[in-house]
Amino acid sequence: MRAAVIARFDQPWELQQLPDPRPQPGQVLIRVRASGMCGTDLHVHHGLFPLQPPIVAGHEPVGDVVELGAGVTRLRVGDRVGVHWHQQGCGRCAACQSGREGGCAEAQTWMHLGGGNSELMLAWASGCTLLPDGLDAATAAPIFCAGYTVMSGLRNADPRPGERVAVLGLGGLGHLALQFSHALGLATFAITGQAGKAAELRAMGADEVLIGGDDPGRALAAAGGADVILSTTNSARQVASAFRALRPGGRLVNMGVTDSPIAVDVMALMMGQRQLRGSSQDERSDLYEALQLVAAGKVRPAIETYPLAQANAVRERLAAGKVRYRAVLLHDR
Ligand SMILES: [Zn+2]
Ligand SMILES: [Zn+2]
Repeated sequence: MRAAVIARFDQPWELQQLPDPRPQPGQVLIRVRASGMCGTDLHVHHGLFPLQPPIVAGHEPVGDVVELGAGVTRLRVGDRVGVHWHQQGCGRCAACQSGREGGCAEAQTWMHLGGGNSELMLAWASGCTLLPDGLDAATAAPIFCAGYTVMSGLRNADPRPGERVAVLGLGGLGHLALQFSHALGLATFAITGQAGKAAELRAMGADEVLIGGDDPGRALAAAGGADVILSTTNSARQVASAFRALRPGGRLVNMGVTDSPIAVDVMALMMGQRQLRGSSQDERSDLYEALQLVAAGKVRPAIETYPLAQANAVRERLAAGKVRYRAVLLHDR
């Protein structure tokens, strides 16, 4: 199989021929059709995860099941599936027993089995989710990390009817958060530093687009504040600024890996019962809900597509901030 391999950290990814893998008991073999490129892949590239090269990255894979390992009964050959980050927990710890396998210290991920930047990949059957009929692989791919993450963030913000949501950071995650919030009927503001995205964000459902810069809280406060802020930016400074524009009782849900600790205004935190929350991929129903909204055409991932052979060039494009929303590698080209 052809694969984009990280042979050494901080070096260009190499297109290599690797032996085809075979599924172990409980696993399936997937012929990958599309694989989204996430900002986290840049952290992998720089060696910030506890991994030893060679590595095949890619944690937004979608493809066809082509072989079942022993004991797999819930999937069939030919199923169209995507695979999310935490595929299987130990089954016995408190996190697993309470249905939150993502919190399991022994959770199996793409880091154990190999990711989707490869023509074939292994996955635990329990980590596969069926694609809704009619949803194409490239459109579905970003939902398996970006979409799942922000749908969990939105649900974990507990938005109530009539509340106003603001999305901070409008890239791969943020443009989906904006659309999910709008699709649920919530008034939704977009706060971006890129004025050139304003028309697109309005078309995606933003009731108002605020140009944030380094102090997005000021722009948001001037616009009346928000009850919920869904933050996907990496800038701790921007998160702290936005926090000050939460209305009393408001919740800021952080989903970005920030460049430094977030220094929230303690008086704002206390005096208005405001909350700083964190969220990542949570309940499986969040992923299902996100896929259904995309399949229904209510949410449209904005993707740019490239052949797998260009994986390294796409990584460079992502690192340079040139990917507008989400880049997806297509393996059939
Ligand atoms: Zn990701
Ligand atoms: Zn466990």
